[in-house]
Amino acid sequence: MSGNAARLNAISSIIATPTVASGFDFVESPTSSVWGKNVFSLNEMAQRLPKNVFKSLKKTITSGETLDLTTADAVAEAMKTWALSKGATHYAHVFYPLTGLTAEKHDSFFDPDGDGGTIATFSGSALIQGEPDGSSFPNGGIRQTFEARGYTIWDVTSPAYIMENPNGTTLCIPTAFVSWTGESLDKKTPVLRSMQALNTQAQRVLKFFGTDGPFVSSSAGAEQEYFLIDNHFYYSRPDLLASGRTLFGSPPPKGQEFDDHYFGAIPERVQAFMFEVERECFKLGIPTKTRHNEVAPGQFEVAPVYEYSNVATDHQQLVMTTLKKVATKYGMTCLMHEKPFAGVNGSGKHVNFSMGSSAAGNLFDPGATPKDNAQFLVFCAAMISAVYKHAPLLRAVVASASNDHRLGANEAPPAILSVFLGDELNQIMEAIAFSGEVTSKTSTLSVGVDVLPPIPMHSGDRNRTSPMAFTGNRFEFRAVGSNQSIAGPMVAMNTIMAEALDEAATHLEMADTSTPEALGAAVESYVRNVWAKCSSVVFNGDGYSDAWHEEAAKRGLPNLKTTADALPVLLDKKYVSLFGKYQVLSERELESRYEVYAEQYLATVNVESNLVVEMAKTIVFPAAIRYQGELASSLASLKAIGIETDQTTITKLTGLIKKLQDTTAELEALKASEHDAVDVAAHCFLIKEKVLPKMVEIREIVDALEDLVADDHWPLPTFQEMLYIK
Ligand code: ADP
Ligand code: MG
Repeated sequence: MSGNAARLNAISSIIATPTVASGFDFVESPTSSVWGKNVFSLNEMAQRLPKNVFKSLKKTITSGETLDLTTADAVAEAMKTWALSKGATHYAHVFYPLTGLTAEKHDSFFDPDGDGGTIATFSGSALIQGEPDGSSFPNGGIRQTFEARGYTIWDVTSPAYIMENPNGTTLCIPTAFVSWTGESLDKKTPVLRSMQALNTQAQRVLKFFGTDGPFVSSSAGAEQEYFLIDNHFYYSRPDLLASGRTLFGSPPPKGQEFDDHYFGAIPERVQAFMFEVERECFKLGIPTKTRHNEVAPGQFEVAPVYEYSNVATDHQQLVMTTLKKVATKYGMTCLMHEKPFAGVNGSGKHVNFSMGSSAAGNLFDPGATPKDNAQFLVFCAAMISAVYKHAPLLRAVVASASNDHRLGANEAPPAILSVFLGDELNQIMEAIAFSGEVTSKTSTLSVGVDVLPPIPMHSGDRNRTSPMAFTGNRFEFRAVGSNQSIAGPMVAMNTIMAEALDEAATHLEMADTSTPEALGAAVESYVRNVWAKCSSVVFNGDGYSDAWHEEAAKRGLPNLKTTADALPVLLDKKYVSLFGKYQVLSERELESRYEVYAEQYLATVNVESNLVVEMAKTIVFPAAIRYQGELASSLASLKAIGIETDQTTITKLTGLIKKLQDTTAELEALKASEHDAVDVAAHCFLIKEKVLPKMVEIREIVDALEDLVADDHWPLPTFQEMLYIK
């Protein structure tokens, strides 16, 4: 059998598989008939709950008050009846541990009734609180296993839903996961706390504009990028299977140079997959909206309509789960790793961020009246100030072993956190900051009196190089990785905005705001102060250029290139006091996050380096040596009959094989030395400075071998095959 049998089998199986069996009929069952059908929505509750119970539940949802047990019992009963009508047999408290994944523990509704039968029960206390064992979830030392109790607590603001499986359905209840001491062990709790903090401070500012009152919430719309590859290839690559990325692989002869994939026609099998993903999302009330091909071959994107940040965060997790689940049905694997293929664009998750309320509207929307404009300018300046002050934090919350491969790699924003405003808004800010000194047409602008000149909506493509871009009515945080929960970024943005708005409110509270003109002047002076202090974070040029790296260094902007550099930010006293002040995370909770994320970084690279060693030794080396043998005997035969032979290839091959053996041994030695690292931080730096570069060195050798060894000896599916054969 030849060395490439697995590859050939994969290709012939893909070709033999019929394309897509047709399934859906949108005339017979239109989208409107499935929309939200698996969600225990407010509508559903209104129909099923007694009026007073519904009223009290709604109050809890909008005000964040705790639910009393009588109400909970009534809600649980209605929820159970609804779930059973959907065929549910079990319920599950779904929670979001610090691993960034989704966790769930299922319990049956059914208990023996004592008379040989069974009865479905679901009490209010089972609804609002659960006790998963969960002792093996990482918690960074907050919870010792001997006090393993962690509680899940229903998040009433995120609706319960039904998850379907071919063999049954489960009622899923989104919950927060806390230790018995009330400390957060999860990603949801701080999102909810940070939303409260943001609201409190926003109200103080909005009072000046008469738009305070209704809850001010942040919203998020996350654009998810992903790759799809055929399962046959996926299962023939141990690296993809165990680490989600290819650790070896030379770039395909045809890359993305023609830009022919971006926004091109979506392959039929992929589109069928997308229809099903969207249909599943619609059933769950997730408003997926946009789908298209992305820049790299085999890369795609899905984006929902934005929602309140807590719901958007839960829905984002569900979108990822759905993408993976549905891909399997179509014989494909959905890769959400940030950099599955070296040399090919990686995947990000642009998080579009805004905030607002029913009374104030979207606070990042300039609006049409002088009053709206003034309000907008305060929030916009606050955002600039927040990013300026807390750029390191924004870098830390997108730090992961996998996202390190993408940030700054000329396809994603660099690790320097700057803000893109666009020329129009930049001019407006300058006109206010330098009141009259700028000779642009906006120089006479007087806040609260004049209407701002129109600010065009920037399409996402206008400036793809900025990590935080103003796009007309929102900011787009582009440094987030495709595989990450958006919880961390939401917590960071909500909290740093809360602080900036706190400062803005204090400024306005101390100023004379007794007349509209005086308020306008107070807003102007706030904007002027922010601009004077923070405008160095504003950059409207090409973030990918080397010139920007130099310029940013001159401006003194931090550039935390890797996770090892960025994660310790979480332990910084500055952040302990920030998160403490706004009651989002305690010092212990921050520490535990640092520990868990650092451990994850180490574990990720450990798995990868194990794979590199194993694959180099057991897959690549044998293929190379076989080819070497074949080549050697051909050369010997030729020589025997007196034909002069060229030794270039065999010499090169022999050299590479030797180098492969040596560097693999070096990597093994490095791995053995990891035990000597004095602490987690030192270990992370050892990984960054020694282990990862050695892995790259081995990759270069393997990729050179891939370009040299006869194709019928090469065992691993190539980039060309994985990216182009669908
Ligand atoms: P682009 O790729 O041009 O940035 P997309 O349509 O792919 O645009 O995605 C834009 C995302 O921004 C969507 O998820 C959309 O719902 C979201 N969005 C639009 N307006 C807002 C807003 N005011 N606040 C938060 N997100 C928003
Ligand atoms: Mg998009």
